[in-house]
Amino acid sequence: MRKKIVAGNWKMNNDLAETELFLVELKKQVFPENVIVMIAPPFTSLNQAFKSLHEHPVTVVAQNMHQSKEGAFTGEISAKMLKSVGVETVIVGHSERRAFFNEDSAVLAEKVNTALENEMTVIFCIGEEIYDRKNGNHFELIKKQLMEGLFHVSDKSWENLVIAYEPVWAIGTGETATPEQAQEMHKFIRKTIAENYSKNIAINVSILYGGSVKPDNATEIFGQADVDGGLIGGAALKVESFMNIVNSF
Ligand code: PGA
Repeated sequence: MRKKIVAGNWKMNNDLAETELFLVELKKQVFPENVIVMIAPPFTSLNQAFKSLHEHPVTVVAQNMHQSKEGAFTGEISAKMLKSVGVETVIVGHSERRAFFNEDSAVLAEKVNTALENEMTVIFCIGEEIYDRKNGNHFELIKKQLMEGLFHVSDKSWENLVIAYEPVWAIGTGETATPEQAQEMHKFIRKTIAENYSKNIAINVSILYGGSVKPDNATEIFGQADVDGGLIGGAALKVESFMNIVNSF
């Protein structure tokens, strides 16, 4: 059975003091048993978040990671460093990394490999730009992102993979894909996985939707047959709205 997941991607928000305030509030919450709750703070807050949450059912996730083991990569963070502060899950290929930091499919494929070699779970992000959708090219583009960045992994690796479909035009814009658009693409992603791997793998992988998910639209989006949860940006920065989304299944 695939898992239901709600993951909060903090992006470049919350210093140590702000993280502490969030964690104090978060730890007062009652977490539903059927949902895996994750938060992805910036690197500087990971250690604090992991230590603070160790007795709570919240997974601490990194937003990014370098593909190399170690060495002369000024400003970068390795898998080993993440694991040393307790982090076992990493987001790879967020559209902001693709667009602003030139991370292409070849680099993302290496990051996936490094994470899997280090026995980490990967949340692999894919999503089309508005012009891809307007041109009717969105299915092809999503297939290409899957083929180039992810479909080299072994069957076994799928146990440690989560997909996040995030149409770029819906991220931080307030414009959400309609539940029907989300379902249509999630179904397509599952079908593409079934064709390239197996039906069993496709049925069991969690596919999250991301892009302007808010407390008032989460129930409808999460209610779609192939949507297994969400990757939440802006609405994950306040405990109240984040927990409203967590409780939207
Ligand atoms: P948003 O961001 O919820 O603010 O649109 C989602 C994401 O980028 O993961």
